[in-house]
Amino acid sequence: MGKGTPSKGKKNKAASHKTCRRCGKHSYHRRKRYCASCGFGKSAKLRKPSWRNRYKAFNGNKGFYR
Ligand SMILES: [Zn+2]
Repeated sequence: MGKGTPSKGKKNKAASHKTCRRCGKHSYHRRKRYCASCGFGKSAKLRKPSWRNRYKAFNGNKGFYR
């Protein structure tokens, strides 16, 4: 399997990620059972770097919200 068109056919099988219960992003891996964004399922704390996971933006528009 290469990178080209034939491999794209697998894209629509089982969805690997679903909406995360903690951060709300579509990054929760169903088989690995952890969130790629916040680390939910892997660690009790938010995945580093912490500035990615701020629920409120502290620095105006630059902050990552949610
Ligand atoms: Zn998450």
